[in-house]
Amino acid sequence: MNTTCPYCGVGCGLIAGPGGLTGDAAHPANRGKLCVKGATLGLTLDDRDRLTTPTIGGRAATWSEALDHAADRFAAAIAEHGPDSVAFYVSGQFLTEDYYVANKLMKGFIGSGNIDTNSRLCMASPVAAHIRAFGEDIVPGVYADFDEADLIVFTGANAAWCHPVLFQRALRAREVRGTKIIAIDPRRSATADLADLHIPIAPGGDLALFAALLNLCAERGVLDHRFIRNHTSGFDDALIAARTAGHGIDDALFDQLADLVATTPRMVTAFSQGVNQSEIATDTINAILNLHLATGRIGKPGATAFSLTGQPNAMGGREVGGLANQLAAHLAFDDPAHHDLLRRFWQAPNLARRQGLKAVDLFDAMHQGRIQAIWIAGTNPAESLPRSNYIRAALERCPTVIVADCWPTATTARAHIVLPAAGWSEKDGTVTNSERLISRQRAFRSAPGDAKPDWWMFTELARRLGHAAAFDFANPAAIFREHAALSAFENNGARRFDLAPLAAIPDEDYDALRPLHWPVAPGDQRLFTRGAFSTQDRRARFIAVTACPRAIAASGTITLNTGRLRDQWHTMTRTGRIPALMAHRDAATLDLAPPDAERHGIGTGDLVELTSADGTITLPARLDAAQSAGTCFAGMHWTQDQGSAGTINRLIGSARDPVSGEPAFKHGIARIRKI
Ligand code: SF4
Repeated sequence: MNTTCPYCGVGCGLIAGPGGLTGDAAHPANRGKLCVKGATLGLTLDDRDRLTTPTIGGRAATWSEALDHAADRFAAAIAEHGPDSVAFYVSGQFLTEDYYVANKLMKGFIGSGNIDTNSRLCMASPVAAHIRAFGEDIVPGVYADFDEADLIVFTGANAAWCHPVLFQRALRAREVRGTKIIAIDPRRSATADLADLHIPIAPGGDLALFAALLNLCAERGVLDHRFIRNHTSGFDDALIAARTAGHGIDDALFDQLADLVATTPRMVTAFSQGVNQSEIATDTINAILNLHLATGRIGKPGATAFSLTGQPNAMGGREVGGLANQLAAHLAFDDPAHHDLLRRFWQAPNLARRQGLKAVDLFDAMHQGRIQAIWIAGTNPAESLPRSNYIRAALERCPTVIVADCWPTATTARAHIVLPAAGWSEKDGTVTNSERLISRQRAFRSAPGDAKPDWWMFTELARRLGHAAAFDFANPAAIFREHAALSAFENNGARRFDLAPLAAIPDEDYDALRPLHWPVAPGDQRLFTRGAFSTQDRRARFIAVTACPRAIAASGTITLNTGRLRDQWHTMTRTGRIPALMAHRDAATLDLAPPDAERHGIGTGDLVELTSADGTITLPARLDAAQSAGTCFAGMHWTQDQGSAGTINRLIGSARDPVSGEPAFKHGIARIRKI
């Protein structure tokens, strides 16, 4: 049976057969290849410590009891405090069908925008930048662009570890056509090690660097003035702003980079969390998009800016409005026509009129007593959000916390009602990967105990809140049909997200669905091949972004960077069970540059106390010459429950990008001390 990997946004296809799980050679995302995480998925099919029964206050309950209780608590909060006193906080691990039902219930029928997702922590900044530049949240390119590029620039993206199968395509392009690979990263990451050129920028230096590259291309006369004139607006202001930028790197390195950028039309710039998770993230991404628009490097083979998504369905969630600031189907809160269209399509009695609370603001509101009931699903905010101690306190203050998950977590430990969720391999639906490719995830084994899919739980909640008719979905196929029909409803080409040919897909065809790109149309899957963006005047927008110098870390402090390790995923509920994966790094460490370690008298293995404005944790030091002086790195995976001295997210503060609300995980400020 064909399915897809539940880990990263590459979205590799798998075949589950009697002999185990293998790569799907017919899946366009991976053509049979898997990384070590995907290849060991079969070893994670272990139900021993799964949640299998609903509980209320720790006492086993039936589904009816648990859902009645949850609905009563939601109804009471809405009646007494209004719809904005309740919230859903969901997950990029959701299938699109789960997301669709949850979003429809909260925004259309409860009447609040308060549904946000842990995709806020990784993809909100590209969403905001795409909408600003293109008028719609669209990744223009496809993975084939990595095969056809002559220059691939990874910035803020350790793709060799975090998107390994796609990175293999970049390496293959180098073999086949001599493609040059550049890594822009403060760390000498695995990607930088394998690149032809490593540009070690200061944390947050990408914006200035891309602005300087735009200026350089203008000076060298390599801009595509015809494309600028015919298909864009705002170029002059963007160039004036770019002229104020200094590149911030060694001059000789900049010259090398600039020569390659100026002379290589087939250029892909791939970016990920190193760019997305900063206080200037959206502006930085627009600086990247500005460069590609100005040189006409968009919508052509081997020429695109490319957002590498973190989670398997970060894109699918965006398509159905999983973010608090979006409606479904790429419709916008601030467009009255969109609001009216969605209200009529859903026959929604109470469609939310304004955006909901984004993740960090949502938990602030909970801390302040403004959220009376929350339903959390498929994510563990007590570990994964910044200020994890504060988040735990917020959960403890909330009168009703309902958590649906597969395994017990620090968040289920703080829930009043715990619901056992069916997980990957046990439920059916679709996901959309980084290149807009929709693939099926399929159930090939039974869920343990009484575990149920999330879409079913939300339909049951909707029924109990009095909205049975609008949530009468018999199966995921029925949800998908409605989702596809909404994307096409009165669309007429206004939005590129359009699944019209799938709006009446029969159950058996949905069951057999093979991967396909949206928009669903024959021919080139790249978008904007003839300009024609999704703005009202069909022109892309340059955004005038200015590189403000970042605040210099105070003397005695160090910049704290957090991120993924090669063989782990999120808080290790799945990958942490596999000895072969733990062998890569078996414990949390604090990676320090040797000069910093020497200054503090720290050697490998010494315990280091790391303190920020939000907390203190202790980690063993690991000296790493790949680390640049003045910065340190800690993997994001370990949690207090795994015996480490504490989740690193305790130390990350509330700083976030003002446009997207995405937290600045990459730019913590801390003090270190040997103990
Ligand atoms: Fe899974 Fe990503 Fe590895 Fe592919 S590259 S097997 S999607 S973790």
